[in-house]
Amino acid sequence: MAKQIVVISGKGGTGKTVLTASFAALAKNKIMVDCDVDAADLHLLLSPVVKTRHEFRSGRTAVIDMKKCQKCGTCLPICRFEAVRPDFRIEHFSCEGCGLCFHICPHGAIHMDENVAGEWFVSDTKFGSFVHAKLGVAEENSGKLVAKIRQIAKELAEKQALDYVIIDGPPGIGCPVIASLSGVDCALIVTEPTLSGLHDAGRVFEVAKHFNIPVKFVVNKYDLNPAMTERIEEFCRTQGVPVIGKIAFDTTVVQAVVEGKSIVEYAKCPTENEVRKIWERINRGL
Ligand code: SF4
Ligand code: SF4
Repeated sequence: MAKQIVVISGKGGTGKTVLTASFAALAKNKIMVDCDVDAADLHLLLSPVVKTRHEFRSGRTAVIDMKKCQKCGTCLPICRFEAVRPDFRIEHFSCEGCGLCFHICPHGAIHMDENVAGEWFVSDTKFGSFVHAKLGVAEENSGKLVAKIRQIAKELAEKQALDYVIIDGPPGIGCPVIASLSGVDCALIVTEPTLSGLHDAGRVFEVAKHFNIPVKFVVNKYDLNPAMTERIEEFCRTQGVPVIGKIAFDTTVVQAVVEGKSIVEYAKCPTENEVRKIWERINRGL
């Protein structure tokens, strides 16, 4: 069974995706997943070539068949979301799909249509297969879409007897994060030495702890605020969580990103060396 490793941060911009792309380069026999379906960016470093694309259907919207509608007005006042317009058309983005109008229409003029809420893809990359997705504009249900692409990646990993599923997690602590964490073998929390970094990492740590997920920490740009790094290490000590890496601020990482590469492909440097060690430590702990 493939080991599933998710890289999360509690907030965006901590270097999470840079680390995920490096793990993708270092791991043998793996598949990658980008669970940040609202603002995906792992593709920028993996340069995927889409092989298959699929609709993601989720939720329903009411549709009025104007040929059957008798304009009796029954549906208009009952919609608490004011999604039925005076001309008896449904405002797609206002409809919550509750189905009340469908049940109440005396002329059977309303039906509920399944929404196409986004798309998911299976792509080839320089490091192997990659499952990613895009949620439609103003669509919800990103947790469901994350669960979907994780399921697809797991099935592909089993079919191809792969060793790892490497997951780039979404920011925050909401539904998509919970869907990214469920059933993984390791959650790597990447944080920066700021008060908000510690706060956000602490929140996502609590979520992982709640689901009994083994957690490890990495502090990125640790040298920019040694005192705060010490606070993060102290937090980890009291929680019994290992800090398996500390990465110094390094402009080489920015140059690598600009060229669309992970740091381990880009240059031999202290950061590249530390990232390799982090990957080895994850492996040893699995
Ligand atoms: S309740 Fe049915 S028939 Fe009456 S206005 Fe609405 S859609 Fe038309
Ligand atoms: S399904 Fe519910 S939310 Fe949508 S138009 Fe009908 S009553 Fe309004």
